[in-house]
Amino acid sequence: HMAGGLAHEINNPLAIIQGRANELMRLAAGDEPLAVRVRAACENIIQTSDRAVKILRGLRGFGREASKDPMEFASIYEITEQCVELQQARFVTRNIEVRLTLEPDIPLLLCRETQIGQILTNVLNNAFDAIVQSDSVERWVSVTAERAEDNVRVDIVDSGPGIEDHFKVHLMEPFFTTKEFGLGMGVGLSLSRAIAQDHGGTLALCKDTEHTCFRLVLPINSRAADQKVGHQVGVAHQPQ
Ligand code: ADP
Repeated sequence: HMAGGLAHEINNPLAIIQGRANELMRLAAGDEPLAVRVRAACENIIQTSDRAVKILRGLRGFGREASKDPMEFASIYEITEQCVELQQARFVTRNIEVRLTLEPDIPLLLCRETQIGQILTNVLNNAFDAIVQSDSVERWVSVTAERAEDNVRVDIVDSGPGIEDHFKVHLMEPFFTTKEFGLGMGVGLSLSRAIAQDHGGTLALCKDTEHTCFRLVLPINSRAADQKVGHQVGVAHQPQ
């Protein structure tokens, strides 16, 4: 609710900034050096605010109650890329590399796209917190999507310190959190797992992996399997 409210509040001033930048662009017609510089600055303002608008759109989607959305065909490429895009700046600021590897030719999924995005965002948030709070020397998160028979498998692995064994059984319980007061409510994973199950899939912590790995598995509907979408392999997002 807060994410949706914030997105709305920020959207209005952003629209004014964009409007004024467009106006300045028109005023700075001509080819005198000053006009050229003003136009370049305006273009930069418009591009930057366009990016902010895109992020806000994602934030609005994330904050929205989506459990009643209809099931629709959606691309796992778009869902993962949008989630990473939404978080990219935060990861870069804390010097965390996001490695995104998407196998080509994964069919569209029949799903509630916003909800699948909410799962990935939750798990990415936890990976971010794990790395930042432990001040890990190694700082990366990898997101890999691939087809595994009749499923899509998305693994989110992080270089954080891992999870103590006695906590592992409680992770998916509602209101279980090890985070400081105000940082976590302990509902992210339980909600995410419920969404995955609602889609006929699973969300679980992988066993015996070197690094913390959460695996989201979603079934590919047989109708969806005919609707392939092409995609580049191995897109990597590096901190600048
Ligand atoms: P919250 O993030 O609000 O605490 P979650 O349900 O998302 O709630 O997560 C529950 C708990 O699981 C976290 O408090 C944390 O102890 C643990 N956890 C989840 N993901 C990770 C991770 N990647 N690394 C370490 N611990 C994790």
